[in-house]
Amino acid sequence: MNPAAPDLKPRDAANRIVLAEQDRFLAGDIKRLSGTDLSRCYHCRSCGNGCPFIRGMDYPPNGIIRLVQYGLRRQALESHAIWICVGCHTCSVQCPMAIDIAAVMGTLRHLALEEGVVIAESNILDFHREVLHSINQYGRTHKLGIMLRYKVRVRQWFADLDVGLRMLAKRKMDLTASRVKAIDEITRLFIPDWKR
Ligand code: SF4
Ligand code: SF4
Repeated sequence: MNPAAPDLKPRDAANRIVLAEQDRFLAGDIKRLSGTDLSRCYHCRSCGNGCPFIRGMDYPPNGIIRLVQYGLRRQALESHAIWICVGCHTCSVQCPMAIDIAAVMGTLRHLALEEGVVIAESNILDFHREVLHSINQYGRTHKLGIMLRYKVRVRQWFADLDVGLRMLAKRKMDLTASRVKAIDEITRLFIPDWKR
């Protein structure tokens, strides 16, 4: 064993940068699609300090930016972090260079779907689809309906049951769905053959 070599854990080894896979167009693609210039990032890591979900991510927010800067398309699109991100914009408002990291995460999610890569957090994608289905159908989110449909989809009937019951008891969830009056204006936002 080379004593000078760092003692990499399995996940670190998987995250090693393979320069041969570089896509020199990636940073430009992300800039064009997200409207955010990542070249301004100097990796101060302020973005990660306030991220409420950083513990669940395989790369911190600036790590995702680094992948894009290095043109590591596959690693970026297959990362868990882009799906763990909830788009709360905490990182974006903390960035001294005004980089909209949340927009970058969203753009990477779109690209991951477009390019058909393996989605690292397929359950989260399922949840997104049920939220969109509810908005398409009612013009708003019907939380109980979303939860029930999601559970049917992922077949996890009893996970989080206690949370759901507490929300029902506190009237945080409506039993029946109500549709907004201007539903046509909402459904026009969806492409005609949108599939959930
Ligand atoms: S806060 Fe901004 S400049 Fe600092 S690492 Fe994050 S994206 Fe880069
Ligand atoms: S937008 Fe995403 S990456 Fe940024 S703080 Fe929120 S969860 Fe974290």
